[in-house]
Amino acid sequence: MAYFINDDCVMCGACKDECPTGAISEGDPKYTIDDSKCDDCGTCAEVCPVGAPQPKK
Ligand code: SF4
Ligand code: SF4
Repeated sequence: MAYFINDDCVMCGACKDECPTGAISEGDPKYTIDDSKCDDCGTCAEVCPVGAPQPKK
């Protein structure tokens, strides 16, 4: 399991600084999560102002 960032991302960068595994990087047109590094902690979802990080089903 991993989280992904949906199209609601407004590129604020808050999640990148909070991710404990360094899985998040700035992409174009939105921030992206490296599946192989994400440990599913949910921190990115908690800090995101728009709820863009979501758990993959
Ligand atoms: S769920 Fe946790 S490990 Fe995965 S990208 Fe978000 S903050 Fe990083
Ligand atoms: S915290 Fe949310 S809006 Fe900000 S860069 Fe991360 S996913 Fe995008």
